[in-house]
Amino acid sequence: MEYETVIGLEVHVQLSTKSKIFCASSTEFGADPNEHVDALTLGMPGSLPVLNKTVVDYAIMLGLAMNCEIRNFNRFARKHYFYPDLPKGYQISQFEEPICERGYINVSFSPDSQRPIGIKRIHMEEDAGKNIHDMRTEASLIDLNRAGVPLLEIVSEPDIRSPAEAACYLRAVRQICRYLRISDGNMEEGSLRCDANISLRPVGEMKFGTRTEIKNINSFRFVEKALEYETARQLSLLKAGKQIRQETLLFDSASGSTRPMRGKEESSDYRYFPDPDLPPVVVEERWIREIRSQMPKLPEQISKELVEIYGLTPYDAGVLTSERDNVDFYLAVYDVCQNAKAACNWVTSELFGALNQQGLDISTSPVNAANLGALIKLIDSEIISGKMAKSVFEEMFKTSASPQEIVEKQGLKQITSEDEILSIIRQVFDANPSQLKSLLEGNDRLHGFFVGQVMKSTGGSANPKKVNELISREAQRLAGK
Ligand code: ADP
Ligand code: MG
Repeated sequence: MEYETVIGLEVHVQLSTKSKIFCASSTEFGADPNEHVDALTLGMPGSLPVLNKTVVDYAIMLGLAMNCEIRNFNRFARKHYFYPDLPKGYQISQFEEPICERGYINVSFSPDSQRPIGIKRIHMEEDAGKNIHDMRTEASLIDLNRAGVPLLEIVSEPDIRSPAEAACYLRAVRQICRYLRISDGNMEEGSLRCDANISLRPVGEMKFGTRTEIKNINSFRFVEKALEYETARQLSLLKAGKQIRQETLLFDSASGSTRPMRGKEESSDYRYFPDPDLPPVVVEERWIREIRSQMPKLPEQISKELVEIYGLTPYDAGVLTSERDNVDFYLAVYDVCQNAKAACNWVTSELFGALNQQGLDISTSPVNAANLGALIKLIDSEIISGKMAKSVFEEMFKTSASPQEIVEKQGLKQITSEDEILSIIRQVFDANPSQLKSLLEGNDRLHGFFVGQVMKSTGGSANPKKVNELISREAQRLAGK
């Protein structure tokens, strides 16, 4: 029997607000342990939470970007569980009233295949602290810097059909968050983490199979690896006629396998109830409109424009829109040179290549967009050749100088004046009378010889197209005489 893989992801995105979700402590990553704690973070009796408005702004923004309905009447709920990194004994989250619901994002699984993946809900919650087990042999330690850092949890519908698609979807979520600048999406630092739910069902079957949930995956590679392992494990059980146990698993990246962590908890296990310390949050239309007006264009829209208006390939559009800074740079180059294809080539191959080699990115590029645009303009107006432009670019990359300055300083100008080229052609003809005779008798091979001679005597700076044309024209004139 053939089986189909069904996957749904729960993605946790740490928001890049300055302070925590319910108190003023900093969210900065990498501080000494327990530097960013206060009475509320420690769960001290009597401390009360105050909502950080920016968290709601960001949630609305992400909801709009993911085509969700934004809830008007929001509440926070307490989700109870006991763990040392959760001093209050409950996490403040949202339960029955998440801020965003029923959305979708279009995910490109390859440059020309796109499909919407449903977004079931997005809710606001606080992060927990971190238990550290490997610093002391006799004790585990707790760092509460992360406790109370705001998170958005994005829950997808079970619309994903393979481990590779899951990684694509996760990249798309990260890309949107980075475009909106609501999170850096840094997986190594834990700003983006995901739980992956997976089940198999016979092809053609409508009902979903029993799922398992792999907790806390922290890299794109591990998402794919963990889901591949789990697909194979479930498949072998099903083929042997056995049942899948609904459970929560941990992925062990060292062995590349999953192992049981606990049986699946039900929501009733958490004793959810509305948090009495926090008033409901009412999101009025006006608030939504204000956020909408602040939103940047999203990668999907920009990609579409790059293909339909700028005439780029879907592949190139995908490369340019991978990061908002990259496409902003590209558009600034285009603004100067008005040559979409050339701007794309110079940005994606020359510039990205050079940046890569030096371990730089676009924000630290020694060549700015105005100068790269100006370089392309110099080529298009035939002031320099494409070949000269490569060496000018190298100099720009080294010195950050403008192309005009470099061309001036190095006397690199291409000769395009017909009079000037013609006078050089005549000199070369005079210096090579026997070859000229042969050319005029119709020996076409000598055309190339004369092009070579003219280019040589100008040190390669004559416009080759013009040289070609003018040699033909001058030879015809002489032959006709
Ligand atoms: P719970 O409330 O138990 O966490 P949800 O219905 O909210 O369950 O789903 C959690 C995640 O699991 C979602 O991303 C959803 O798409 C996914 N999911 C639900 N059922 C299945 C299934 N049978 N196979 C794979 N993924 C599933
Ligand atoms: Mg869940």
